[in-house]
Amino acid sequence: MARPFTIAIVDDDGAIRRLVRLFLKRAGYETLECTTGGEAREALRTQAWDLAVLDRRLPDLDGVVLANELKSNPAFRARYVIMLTGEDEQEDKVEGLELGADDYITKPFQYPELLARIRAGKRIVDLQNELIEANKRLELLSITDGLTKLYNHRYFQDELARAFDESLRYQRPLSLAIIDIDFFKKVNDTYGHAVGDEVLRHVSALFRDSIRSTDLAARYGGEEFAVMMPETELDDAIAFAEKIRSLIESTPIPTQSGELKATVSIGVSSVPHSRIHYAKEVVVAADKALYRAKKGGRNQVQAEKRRDPSRVTKVAS
Ligand code: GH3
Ligand code: MG
Ligand code: MG
Repeated sequence: MARPFTIAIVDDDGAIRRLVRLFLKRAGYETLECTTGGEAREALRTQAWDLAVLDRRLPDLDGVVLANELKSNPAFRARYVIMLTGEDEQEDKVEGLELGADDYITKPFQYPELLARIRAGKRIVDLQNELIEANKRLELLSITDGLTKLYNHRYFQDELARAFDESLRYQRPLSLAIIDIDFFKKVNDTYGHAVGDEVLRHVSALFRDSIRSTDLAARYGGEEFAVMMPETELDDAIAFAEKIRSLIESTPIPTQSGELKATVSIGVSSVPHSRIHYAKEVVVAADKALYRAKKGGRNQVQAEKRRDPSRVTKVAS
C-alpha cells in the first residue's frame, strides 16, 4: 500500500501546531511536527514527508532559508512547501515564493483555506510523483530488450565502453563472453517463430540466474547474447562460460511444442591485453573466439588466443 500523504508542520508556536495537526488529522493526513529550523532540517532529511507547512519566523532560522534549502535539494523534487507569513509582510511573500516556496498563507488564517491550499499542493505532488515513476519506467524500457527482458544492445555498448575505460584506468581485469545459440534457425524452421521466441526467453533466464550481481547480461543480437564481467580474469571467465554452456546443454526448455534442447557456442575475451586498446576490440576478440567455437563443432567455449606480453615485438614507427 502507498505511504500516507504526510505533512510536516514547522512552527515554534505550540498552539498553532496543535490546531493544524488536529485539522490535518481530521482531513486524513499523516503529520510530523518540528518546532525549530534545525529540528526540521534533521527531521525532513531523515523522515518521509510530502508537503511542509513552514512558518517564516522560526526562532533559529528564517523559514525562507529552509524553504530554499529544501526546494534546491534534488531528492525533494516532488515536495511542496507552503509558507506561513504575517499579515503585513508583503515582501516576505514575494521573497518566499522567489526562493522556492510553492505557496503561502497569511497568519491568522482560516482552516478551510489551509486545507484547500494543501489539496491543491497534493494534486501537484501526486502529479510530480506520477511523472517521476513514468520516467523511471520509460528509462528502464529504453535499455531493456522487450522479448528477453535482458539489457539491449545499445545499453550494453555504453556500459562496456564505460567498464573498459575503468579497467584501463585502474588496470583491473574485465572479461566478455559472446554467446550464440547453435542451429537456432532450425528451431524456427521446425517449430515456428513463437517457439523460437520461447527458447530465447528461457535461455535468457538461465543467463540472468547465472551471472553475478556485478555482471551485465544483454541480448546482443537475434539469438546472440553478451555477458560483461568486471573484475574477472580470463580463466574465471572461461570457467563461467563453460558452466553456462553445460547448464544450457543439460536444461530441457519447456515450450508449447514440448521440451526442447539447445546448445550454445561461446567466445570469451579479456583485458588487460597487450593488443586491445579500444572497447570495440574486446568484442572483436570475443567474436573471433566465437567463430572458432562454431568452426570447431559448436557447443563449446573458445577464448581469445593468449599472447605473452613479453613476446610482443614492438613495431618500429
Ligand atoms: P549457428 O549455429 O551458426 O549460429 O546457426 P544459427 O541457425 O543459429 O545461426 P543463423 O545466424 O543462421 O540464424 C539465426 C536465426 O535466429 C535466424 C533468425 O531468424 C533467428 N532469430 C533472430 N532473432 C529472432 C527472434 O527474435 N525470434 C526468433 N524466433 N528467431 C530469431
Ligand atoms: Mg546461432
Ligand atoms: Mg547468430
